[in-house]
Amino acid sequence: MPHPILTVEDVSKTYDGFKAISNLNFYLYDGELRTVIGPNGAGKSTFFDLITGRAQPDKGKIEFGADPASHHDLTRLNEYEINRLGISRKFQTPSVYTEHTVWDNLVLSMKGPRGVFASLFKRMTSTEHDRLDELLKLVRLDAKRDWKAGLLAHGEKQWLEIGMLLAQEPKLLLVDEPAAGMTDEETHRTGELLISLSGKHSIIVVEHDMAFVKQIARDGNVTVLHQGTVLCEGKFDEVQSNQKVREVYLGR
Ligand code: ADP
Ligand code: MG
Repeated sequence: MPHPILTVEDVSKTYDGFKAISNLNFYLYDGELRTVIGPNGAGKSTFFDLITGRAQPDKGKIEFGADPASHHDLTRLNEYEINRLGISRKFQTPSVYTEHTVWDNLVLSMKGPRGVFASLFKRMTSTEHDRLDELLKLVRLDAKRDWKAGLLAHGEKQWLEIGMLLAQEPKLLLVDEPAAGMTDEETHRTGELLISLSGKHSIIVVEHDMAFVKQIARDGNVTVLHQGTVLCEGKFDEVQSNQKVREVYLGR
């Protein structure tokens, strides 16, 4: 059995006496696409906060890196340091530079710090240029590379932001409800995109839309969070037919 790329063991996080995360155990393997579902308030976003250093656990272990000899203790690092290790998070609402073109958004994300772009544009190598060209196609925005990002449809902004995260070559991608507000067609395309990224990247997707969860889970594992802890974990069909899951999540 390989070593997990992400190990979360016995992690708890309390807010004003309320246990948002409670003795959580979670293991993710390199290249895995894992879907996390759970009712509102189950602790899904807090789980991402703890991995990315936005919040600190009260107790427990959070380690990153598939090599047991050189993994990182994320509980000792800040948000910036964790991002530098190759962990990128996509929040639910798209966050793009609306006044800049699609292409410039990708350049800015790849080349880092805002404000200093003029000189950075010239410093792009042809390899970097080619990579961004590929990314543009991957997120299906090649026809809109010169559009101002603010003019894109909601779904396209979400894809652009995924492209911006990919420009940073993350090892682990955390994606919070990517299908929210999307049309069925956009949702399906988003699913195809995430599936095509798995293998090369390890991905955790938090999602509510069950048709979408089914599409991206395929034969991978789905984790159900409830009251800050894992209620059930398994293939989509097992999870969907689990009695505890039906009671708390599906309400029957
Ligand atoms: P989910 O994303 O599954 O809907 P959250 O992780 O956002 O759930 O929230 C889990 C619980 O923790 C909620 O009851 C929420 O109010 C609480 N919580 C999350 N973050 C904070 C915070 N920064 N301060 C206080 N309470 C919080
Ligand atoms: Mg949430």
